[in-house]
Amino acid sequence: MYDVVALGEVLIDFTPAGQSELGYTLFERNPGGAPANVLAALAKWGKQTGFISKVGLDPHGQYLIQTLNECGIDTRGVVSSNEVNTTLAFVHLDPHGDRSFSFYRKPGADTQLQKEEVRLDMIGQSKIFHFGSLSLTDEPAASATRRALLYAKEQGCTISFDPNLRIPLWDDLDHARKMIEYGLARADIVKLSEEELTFLTGVTDLEEGSRMIGEKFGTSLILVTLGEKGAFYRLGGKTGSVGGYPVLAIDTTGAGDAFFGGFLYGWMDRKIGFETLNEEDLRTMIRFANAAGALATTRRGAIPAMPTLEEIRKVTKDHDNS
Ligand code: ATP
Repeated sequence: MYDVVALGEVLIDFTPAGQSELGYTLFERNPGGAPANVLAALAKWGKQTGFISKVGLDPHGQYLIQTLNECGIDTRGVVSSNEVNTTLAFVHLDPHGDRSFSFYRKPGADTQLQKEEVRLDMIGQSKIFHFGSLSLTDEPAASATRRALLYAKEQGCTISFDPNLRIPLWDDLDHARKMIEYGLARADIVKLSEEELTFLTGVTDLEEGSRMIGEKFGTSLILVTLGEKGAFYRLGGKTGSVGGYPVLAIDTTGAGDAFFGGFLYGWMDRKIGFETLNEEDLRTMIRFANAAGALATTRRGAIPAMPTLEEIRKVTKDHDNS
């Protein structure tokens, strides 16, 4: 039995890590990929996780599988192929720790997962099925994702979706919108950034934008991450914001994934459905998620930056007592 099975990209984030003696930028080989990051956080906190993806039969791919195994993630759903290269991304950081990416993914292994390769048996044994939009950019992974998603719904999994819009990865933005809307129409819990909310709705107002998404797609729970300001939520007709925790951010890679992992961690412990979820309990879950996200910004990379449960609890406790 799994708590969460995710499908999607796993890749190498080459993150700037100082300069060589000759004055050239050094890059650190950080394992990453949003769905893998979410699982790494959950596995670190003791949850049973399984991953469905594809890597190249190359040293980077083997390094990724080894890293996921070391995190405690079940990698039996990760296919290694000698026909494709493991996907790579170079991360560029501005002085505030904000990122931009150059992807080496034409095609990257993660886009080449075939629907016959999806381990439906893993999905059938999971409480939550989690996915993003990177596996929807290209075929055959888009069909593989659709198959997995429909199966997860048939099996009664809670569906969690992070649209995680990366504009350079789409051939055109109408395609991106269409595929993200496909995911939204089937998801129970959605995490968006403010930019993604505006992209999807054309408005910047959180109340209005989240209402539009909720009404159009019937999403039970919408979370909008606000960087250092924390997060906004819409649960049916109830909305609100939960403030973030002040930290010294050095690299925001993986903050959204730590946040979403943190939220799902709390979500799994609840005993009631969306309709009867108490707003104060929801706010407690979001506080935990905000602390996880905040702590992840204080370290470089994504998987290695996931905080421990003790660190998260200390941050929330210290803050509540101050
Ligand atoms: P990503 O860019 O990783 O796809 P995202 O846009 O959802 O994801 P952010 O909004 O940057 O990610 O961060 C997610 C969460 O992490 C925020 O909602 C907040 O709780 C926390 N967080 C991020 N940056 C900071 C910061 N500088 N200080 C405190 N908390 C932060």
